[in-house]
Amino acid sequence: MAHAATLEAQTLAIHGGAKTVSAPKPAWPYLLDEEIEAVRQNLIKGRTDWTYLCAAAKGGPGQALEERMQKELGVPHVVATAGGGPALHIACMAVLEMGDEAIVTPYSWGQTVSCVLQAGGVPIFADIDPETLSLDPQSIEKKITPRTKAIVVVHFGGIPADMDGIMAVAKRHGLAVIEDCAQAQGSLYRGKQVGTFGDFGCFSLGSGKNVAAGEAGLLVTHAREHYERALLAGMHPARNNADVQDPERKKWIDSLIYTYRINAISAGLALKQMDRLDEMNFWRRKNAQALAERLKGVPGIRPQRLPAHCDPAWHMLSWTFVPE
Ligand SMILES: *Cc1c(COP(=O)(O)O)cnc(C)c1O
Repeated sequence: MAHAATLEAQTLAIHGGAKTVSAPKPAWPYLLDEEIEAVRQNLIKGRTDWTYLCAAAKGGPGQALEERMQKELGVPHVVATAGGGPALHIACMAVLEMGDEAIVTPYSWGQTVSCVLQAGGVPIFADIDPETLSLDPQSIEKKITPRTKAIVVVHFGGIPADMDGIMAVAKRHGLAVIEDCAQAQGSLYRGKQVGTFGDFGCFSLGSGKNVAAGEAGLLVTHAREHYERALLAGMHPARNNADVQDPERKKWIDSLIYTYRINAISAGLALKQMDRLDEMNFWRRKNAQALAERLKGVPGIRPQRLPAHCDPAWHMLSWTFVPE
């Protein structure tokens, strides 16, 4: 409270007072020389082996990134994509038919909702818990109809949603769960990586995310059927000929696809950046804690409450303005 009193006594910078923070904003994305060098080496390999830079072929950085994610998250199937949005879109295409309903959150980046529309589905908004800012399982349950097929949940700001509650509702009603982990790479729930609880985890490696590899994304999934359906929606026929096994699905391999494969330059960058994701997340956790400590006594704002069993990788620190 002493801290709050000092703040009140000062004239705010917006009213002409001195700025509390005068250092320049740090540069972002934060690329190390060795990461830039890794990309250069990939390009040099691409001079003599065109398949190296071609995500339709095997053996390049895209495939290495998928294998690394498989190992780190302990999931059987990974698809490296052009972004988090594309990953969400092909996840929806894998589980929704035209007109199917998917329950979504009203509080996120818009693609947590538009992925359902893009797949021909109907997004149905449930409510969030105003303190955790994530989907309220009880509200989800009230929105279920005979047409409901899926729940799309976001781990907003990197704070894991109430996955125990959400998975229990999904199980009771036989619904697919798509986790939007775009802001949550490295966040843990009950000590386990987010993205591994539902049927799909969709990650963004976009320029503003925890792994900022240019523009790219990752889809992880457990079921062979989901994997193959996602491949058919967005991957090159050359890959699909090699990776789709089901004879009925093989018939659908075609060039009528979304060009959602990852580019090898971003994949190479992502592989290097993932080497220090844990270290970066360690500092995110430290910084979030330090900032929260200092903001604690300030009247009129309330921190996002952590649901139980969460260890977030703090993509953002969200505070709610409390006018009263
Ligand atoms: C960034 C983001 C996306 C989209 O990811 P892109 O890589 O930009 O396509 C989707 N959902 C959320 C919550 C995001 O923050």
